Amino acid sequence: MKLEGKTAVVTGASSGIGAATVRQLREARVCVVGGARRVERVEADIALVLDVTEPESCAAFVNEAVAQLGGIDILFNNAGLALGRYPFWESNEEDEARVLHTNVDGVMRMTRLCLPHIRDEGHIVFMGSIAGRQAYPNGASYVASKFAVRGFVYALREDLLGRPIRITTVDAGLVETEFSIVRFKGDVETADSVYAGIDPITPDEVADCVMFALTRPAHVNVDELVIKTLRQSSGARVVRREE
Ligand code: NAP
Repeated sequence: MKLEGKTAVVTGASSGIGAATVRQLREARVCVVGGARRVERVEADIALVLDVTEPESCAAFVNEAVAQLGGIDILFNNAGLALGRYPFWESNEEDEARVLHTNVDGVMRMTRLCLPHIRDEGHIVFMGSIAGRQAYPNGASYVASKFAVRGFVYALREDLLGRPIRITTVDAGLVETEFSIVRFKGDVETADSVYAGIDPITPDEVADCVMFALTRPAHVNVDELVIKTLRQSSGARVVRREE
């Protein structure tokens, strides 16, 4: 499918996978509205402030995006985060709420608000994770949130069956972005150690997967793509290069 002239909405466009996907979409001549809280970092055709945890922010964002774009061909539900890496008995109300409100409520809300504006032959892409396919230790709220995204997508596929809207989930393993800096609450050294000696996936390599799904013929739905560095078998197991 040719993407030239289409419109896209990308959440979490200020960093990492979202920013890389905005870049690649624009290179394919898609007109992109990018949203994030740090709107000053969003390099889209139209950058709008968005907090997916806030219903009013999401409604204002979608209204303005639709007013500017006329309609939506592509929605990339990408905004998300993890907080902390600890056994569940060390978890707390605040981290759990933020992870679930962002990764689950935010994704459902943005999908619900955008759906009436998604045109025929539209495509909704979800940023999942291998954490949503297989649990790993010390990440319960993130694992729960990404399993929830997968459940939501499966249910949405049932509801949209028969309508000309494609749905894809990209489930990634370790991708070097600001994800771990956020997870470890600004501890850059610990964040860096996550990616040491494993040749992590790059944000552009995930964006490549998104672009692959988007550019298949209109009748071809790529349901799920799973992408990991060769040095990783699961969320729990990596083999690091001696450095
Ligand atoms: P990142 O570099 O930290 O980017 C996260 C993006 O989400 C930022 O643009 C951030 O923007 C946005 N975001 C967070 N909370 C938000 C909120 N309340 N409202 C709006 N935007 C919000 O991390 P990333 O790796 O690119 O993560 C993108 C997605 O990939 C997430 O869903 C993550 O779970 C998933 N993922 C990441 C990995 C990995 O290893 N990195 C692996 C699998 C899946 P602001 O802070 O400016 O709002």
